[in-house]
Amino acid sequence: MTKILFKILRYSGLPFLFRETIQRRRVTILMFHDIGPAAAERVFGYLTKKYNVVSLDDFIARKPMPQKALILTFDDGHVGNYDLVPVLKKYNLPVTIFLCAGIVGTRRHYWFTYKHPAITTSELKQKSNALRLTTLREVGFDEEKEFDEPQALSKCQIDEMKNAVNFQAHTMFHPCLPTCTNEEAKEEVFQCKTVLENDFGLRINAFAYPNGDYGDRETELLKAAGYDCGVTVDFGFNTYSTDPFRLKRLSVNDTSNLDELIVKASGVWAFFKMKIFQN
Ligand SMILES: [Zn+2]
Repeated sequence: MTKILFKILRYSGLPFLFRETIQRRRVTILMFHDIGPAAAERVFGYLTKKYNVVSLDDFIARKPMPQKALILTFDDGHVGNYDLVPVLKKYNLPVTIFLCAGIVGTRRHYWFTYKHPAITTSELKQKSNALRLTTLREVGFDEEKEFDEPQALSKCQIDEMKNAVNFQAHTMFHPCLPTCTNEEAKEEVFQCKTVLENDFGLRINAFAYPNGDYGDRETELLKAAGYDCGVTVDFGFNTYSTDPFRLKRLSVNDTSNLDELIVKASGVWAFFKMKIFQN
């Protein structure tokens, strides 16, 4: 059903209209997570034809942006991102991957991938950070527990990818920051920068709020920790007037379906979703 809806929206002319009017003079930031190499080939092949892919660093440095500028970002640091290197090189794409510093380089797992019949991920997200962690421990998950298979990129993979990829920060363990105490939030924001710089030899200047959840406290923490920007999942497009600690971003759901990609990358989908939820 949604597939048909994406097709209708794609051929409605709206994505074209958004691209040629709104996106022409603004910078669009897309969010991926764990897209596979075959889907990436299709998706990046399309995006490079319709947009001008630029690096997050160039945008932060306020360099002149081409028309229809597009920034590609990946959240979490999933191990599957390693398989994208050939596609990234083929299209010469300057991408940014936001890493959870406490999970990359280990066999620890992302808490939100742990499924238990007693509790859902969305229920856990509602709890205070401490209660979320206690509840997870009760159902057999600990954020420091090492599993057999890694879910995140290894240190070697990060080292190997460093030249082709801009690695940035996404907390230590991916909590919902607004549910954290002041100390917990500070630790997640500060320590993740320190670990990525000292243990992984990266230059950290950008931060992605986990699940896009943030408030004034979080933007202030980022400034205090020395970041230059923070990316959200708030709907919209960016210019040099946009608050750099509240950069807007569109989720494209790791899709390989071009109808869906076109509708989502143009902002049409998030625009209608926002309108529906506002009313
Ligand atoms: Zn994330």
